[in-house]
Amino acid sequence: MQVEPLNPELQRRLPSPSNVALAIMDACQRESASVQDVVSKVQADPALVGRLLAQANAAAMGGRSVASAGEAVRRLGLATVRRLTLTFSLLDEYGRGRCTHFDYAAFWSHSLLMGLALSDIGGQQRLGSPEDLFTCGLLARIGSLGLATAYPDVYGKLLSSGAQGAELARLEQQDLQLDHKRLSYLMLQQWGFPDALTEPVLFFENLSSTSYAVGTRGWSLVHALHLALQVADFIVASPKNQVTRLTEFAVAAGKVGWESDALGQCVDRVAAQWRVWGERLNVPTTTPPDFASIASAAAKPERDEDAHLLRVLIAEDDPIILGMLQAWLLENEGHTVMTAGNGRDALVRALDFKPHVMLTDWRMPVMDGIAMCKVLRKSEWGQKIYVLMLTSADQEDDLVTAFEAGVDDYLTKPVNLRALSARLKAAWRYVRLRETWETDHARITGMLAELAQSNRRLQLAALTDPLTQLANRRAGMNALTQAWSSAVRHGHLLTVISIDIDHFKSVNDAAGHAAGDKVLQEVALCLRDASRQEDTVCRWGGEEFLLVSPNMSLEDAIRVAERLRSTIDAMQIQFGNQVFHVTASFGLAACDTSVGNLDNLLANADQALYLSKSAGRNCVSVFSNVPTDRIAIA
Ligand code: GH3
Ligand code: MG
Ligand code: MG
Ligand code: MG
Repeated sequence: MQVEPLNPELQRRLPSPSNVALAIMDACQRESASVQDVVSKVQADPALVGRLLAQANAAAMGGRSVASAGEAVRRLGLATVRRLTLTFSLLDEYGRGRCTHFDYAAFWSHSLLMGLALSDIGGQQRLGSPEDLFTCGLLARIGSLGLATAYPDVYGKLLSSGAQGAELARLEQQDLQLDHKRLSYLMLQQWGFPDALTEPVLFFENLSSTSYAVGTRGWSLVHALHLALQVADFIVASPKNQVTRLTEFAVAAGKVGWESDALGQCVDRVAAQWRVWGERLNVPTTTPPDFASIASAAAKPERDEDAHLLRVLIAEDDPIILGMLQAWLLENEGHTVMTAGNGRDALVRALDFKPHVMLTDWRMPVMDGIAMCKVLRKSEWGQKIYVLMLTSADQEDDLVTAFEAGVDDYLTKPVNLRALSARLKAAWRYVRLRETWETDHARITGMLAELAQSNRRLQLAALTDPLTQLANRRAGMNALTQAWSSAVRHGHLLTVISIDIDHFKSVNDAAGHAAGDKVLQEVALCLRDASRQEDTVCRWGGEEFLLVSPNMSLEDAIRVAERLRSTIDAMQIQFGNQVFHVTASFGLAACDTSVGNLDNLLANADQALYLSKSAGRNCVSVFSNVPTDRIAIA
């Protein structure tokens, strides 16, 4: 990925380390850097010495402990000392600021958790040194602090809207033309962090935005950062939220291959280190319960007394009965109550009140209980309400009508209050079950959707060339096999075009592999743009492509190849401040009765390509059965 420069005005306003830290960072980076020089500068800052010693010893993991600044610097290495110095200095300098609505203490507290979590998670997967992972996690959202520091007023206002996550990023982009993810990336680049540690900060908040191929180091780091974010969010969540988050959390951990036990141990380790490091860095922390007790709380049913309480709407035209029921439900049972004198009023009030239970009389003016219930059951929200109908003894025979209208239960008048209380307990169980089912349903649907999406991504990754995003050789072979069998079976036309960039090695040799990659991407783009919907363009090998064109005659294919050849020849490929020009050679072969099999068809295209190369490159050749009859165009 290319680094885009920060606009100088913005850069001036962004957080920066103290002068002492800058001097140390500078000494670490100098060409002629001597450890002694760095050590003597570090020693001038006793707090930094303590923190570096702590880091060096944390990594020693029971090995011989480090006791002096010199040893710590030597053990950590200059690049790491530089990153740690920067991190600690930012933490000291930006513990507060003038952006209202930006909680500086909470920001650092959460960032510290992320640093420790990434160091723990990534360390186990050997994604980098624990110290580098620590700084990467800790600064992964530094762009948020950047926005708060550079634009305290506008950003404060934006935060006051309460937006979070993707919505916040959208508002940042809209109001400041830069979101915190991109700014985190730019700031880390600016401070000289290697690409491997900076690029993942763009993607970890929203995993579906990442284009890393599955299983690559970038992919693993993005997922480790995502899990670190979940660990941090989990540790700072309220106990109630911790319980509800548990399932999703375990799913996220499962994606990187973790069992619940390993996850629990990681959460406990991170929380313990958080308190130690919080003290060392003056960052506020709390003492969350251990993971095992959160998990067992989640397994127990909720025993909150208030959970038995319901919102009850009473529809009754007799004011005496109405008053009596209302008083009983409010005072003896503690439910929240709303009343209405007929069915129509009850429906109107239910819209706002959203009752769990409707206790309704049968006979009422304007709209009776049966008509009301029928209306209720027609709407989605109304179907969820538990309807308990009051009936007179003479209506017992008509109960079928009531149940058909959608009534859940009934109670005969005069109302026995103890019986009402028992009926409401049943209603409460129903409401609970329904709510649990709904959240589980939503959660499971969400999980299934995510699973389907990640399966699609895996499938796509298995058939896509990660550099050019073209079909890879396997996908090309699939398309070719299909086109071949349709050509053989139904006599359809089929032409293949083999394309190889000329003297491509010299691009790599002259300007480096990254420039070569850029050329490959541009040529791939040109081939894809020029192909038809039914064609398959694939990256066949290093700088070789194959165009499979079903239903295309050789004459048409020659025209297509010639057009592609001249388009590539005319391309100016920009990389950094250099411009590259390449050409490509083309070899065509068509499927006819003499070809025999697919391998022969490919060999024929290859032979035609070879003819183009030996004829001086940058040209199109067609395979012909008569060896001397080379058709070279251009
Ligand atoms: P010719 O005109 O005969 O085809 O010459 P050439 O230099 O294009 O062919 P050669 O086969 O000698 O070299 C191909 C080069 O492509 C060598 C290899 O390093 C480079 N290459 C293969 N895959 C990649 C890649 O993914 N990225 C980059 N940058 N280079 C690649
Ligand atoms: Mg009545
Ligand atoms: Mg080549
Ligand atoms: Mg080649």
